[in-house]
Amino acid sequence: MVKITIGRHEGDRRWYDTFEVEEKPGMTLLEALFYIQERLDGGLCFRYSCRGAVCGSCAMLINRRPGLACRTQLSDVKGEVIDEAHRDQILLKKAPLDANKEEVIVEPLPNLKVIKDLVVDMEHFYMLLDSVKPWINIPDDRSHEENIIDPHLQMQIERYTNCILCATCHGSCPAAARNSNYMGPAALAKAWRFYLDPRSNKEDLAELLTTIDSKEGIWGCDVVYNCVNVCPRKVPPTTAILKFRDVLKKE
Ligand code: SF4
Repeated sequence: MVKITIGRHEGDRRWYDTFEVEEKPGMTLLEALFYIQERLDGGLCFRYSCRGAVCGSCAMLINRRPGLACRTQLSDVKGEVIDEAHRDQILLKKAPLDANKEEVIVEPLPNLKVIKDLVVDMEHFYMLLDSVKPWINIPDDRSHEENIIDPHLQMQIERYTNCILCATCHGSCPAAARNSNYMGPAALAKAWRFYLDPRSNKEDLAELLTTIDSKEGIWGCDVVYNCVNVCPRKVPPTTAILKFRDVLKKE
């Protein structure tokens, strides 16, 4: 048996519930949440979709570290000692201090409004993403040849297109915690992806640089690499932010 302690939210109520789950070899945290929902508490709310670390829906705080429940093995996190860097991410009053030997603590992703239990409202995250206009305006008359991208450059771009918009990075970001208007690592990484793309036009790129050149943009980052460390797709938002800083310093 493994104990799963879950930070619950409903309206103004905040509390913790601990459930005992029959652990099977290879069981993921998402499977443990299904076990609880199906056998112990049908009211438990969490979001999921692909179950394969592709959709990003099941991002949550696992032992105070943001991650995807579907790619988290229970055996890897039960009894894990919560490191000092994550202790201040206590979301609820009277939070348990540490996972014990057979326990996992699960809470909703920080820095976003909680709808219920482990489900957060992603609207603000998507709004921040939209602020960098993450698309390319390609004129209808552009030839096929003009749209071809050098394979080496495409590999650089792909580091950023791998993002699945899970918001795990956003939940780990101290700048986002301080300032809800901070665009955040995912939006800034996405901005860099379009900055690199040779199909983006000059006017749009100039507008993009103006948009991100602020405390709410690239200058708000603490450069602590939390986002890089937690990203399940190995996207490096801090690298994008530092590269943007170099670009703007040269302007
Ligand atoms: Fe998730 Fe990584 Fe994209 Fe952030 S950069 S939203 S952690 S995939």
